[in-house]
Amino acid sequence: MKNKLVVYNTLGRKKELFKPVNPPNVGMYVCGPTVYGDAHIGHARPAVTFDLIFRYLKHLGYKVRYVRNITDVGHLENDADQGEDKIAKKARLEQLEPMEIVQYYSYRFHINMDQLNTLPPSIEPLASGHVIEQIEMVKKIVDAGFAYIVNGSVYFDVGKYNKVYHYGKLSGRNLDELRANTRTLQMQSEKKHNFDFALWKKALPEHIMHWTSPWSEGFPGWHIECSTMSTKYLGKHFDIHGGGMDLIFPHHECEIAQSQAANKTDPVKYWIHNNMITINGQKMSKSLNNFITLNDLFSGKNKSLYKAYNPMTVRFFMLQAHYRSPLDFSNQALQAAEKGIEKLFKGIDTLQKITPSTNSDFDVKIFKQKCYDALNDDFNSPILIATLFDGIKAINSAKQGKGKLTGQDIILLKKIYNSFVFDVLGLKKEENKNNEKFDDVMKIILELRYYARENKDWSTSDKIRDQLLKLNINIKDTKQGATWEIEK
Ligand code: ZN
Repeated sequence: MKNKLVVYNTLGRKKELFKPVNPPNVGMYVCGPTVYGDAHIGHARPAVTFDLIFRYLKHLGYKVRYVRNITDVGHLENDADQGEDKIAKKARLEQLEPMEIVQYYSYRFHINMDQLNTLPPSIEPLASGHVIEQIEMVKKIVDAGFAYIVNGSVYFDVGKYNKVYHYGKLSGRNLDELRANTRTLQMQSEKKHNFDFALWKKALPEHIMHWTSPWSEGFPGWHIECSTMSTKYLGKHFDIHGGGMDLIFPHHECEIAQSQAANKTDPVKYWIHNNMITINGQKMSKSLNNFITLNDLFSGKNKSLYKAYNPMTVRFFMLQAHYRSPLDFSNQALQAAEKGIEKLFKGIDTLQKITPSTNSDFDVKIFKQKCYDALNDDFNSPILIATLFDGIKAINSAKQGKGKLTGQDIILLKKIYNSFVFDVLGLKKEENKNNEKFDDVMKIILELRYYARENKDWSTSDKIRDQLLKLNINIKDTKQGATWEIEK
């Protein structure tokens, strides 16, 4: 662990040297999905971002416990504690049990995560499996005097909390601004202030998911699950808390307040947030209906897609941008990523085909250090990828006999590419494997056509050529034999 990893901390808004609370252990909590529909590209970005961080920390030798929850209760339709529970609504519309919805979409989410080659988290707790712990934590907050009870519901008293601690320190807000900016309370609201939030809600008679608590038959507020489960699995003060930037306020701000109020300590050392994805320059939104699910993306079944994209192309596309930069999704950008990953894999394959020189004109040690420097600077994957392409240039040049690499260089380069491309960036060559198979099949077909021509069996040889042409595979007869290409 001689490498000096520096991370950007949303809390404090600056880069800091990464020093875990209890090295070599690292605790990382990431807010996972609310499973009431298929995962879309907005879900893929945090998944890939925190997978990169998980992989790199492990590569550096840390023992990482990565916890990513699944929200299956308490996430209401809007963040102001109003509307129907998202899972319960879907269950009502589909006439299913809420847990059938949760099971169905969790299963599909895991398939998508596997396709993107993200490693499974160490623990993936469900909110509904931790209601007892959530009730216990709410009790602690009530006992500490930072919550009030109205008609069986419990609300966090932000004003009271802010007299002792700073509510808004993560999002850069302060309570006076919040007071000035929030609308006056609706008559029916039970809250003292609009910025107070629910810790426990009394269930209305039609509400299908509810549990017994000291205050009412009800259900937990959305924010309390993450405070509870991070405390349970990572302790009162842990290293990294992650999620999308859209979660900074109110979700993560509320998490800090709850954990601080219940545990009397600041919960998180480093807050890490990924930026958002736009689609052709526009924000993803319900009103624009421009969400693209990962299943659509991988199968090409969406009218805004020119074609299907391989999950590794999508992963590479995301890693080509730094996680804190916005990322615009378009067919052009994905096609560029497709070419990029192809070039990278081809370059790695070329390593096998170089004749070693006795001396070298490429400094592999400096190259290796540059790879580490890129990721040590707040997981800068685009700089790492640019550096890896510099190496590919040297490899291609050595293959062409212009540059020189020694046998030792080649061994070291293989190791470096294996570590950074496959282990850390988490890319895999699945598509290429299929291509290799396809190449072998084409070899057999062309051989059969060759024998047909030898035997002057023109009808068979023409049939093979014409049938392949129907599949856009074009055969050309040259002096050296037949070649083929797929027409695009
Ligand atoms: Zn959360």
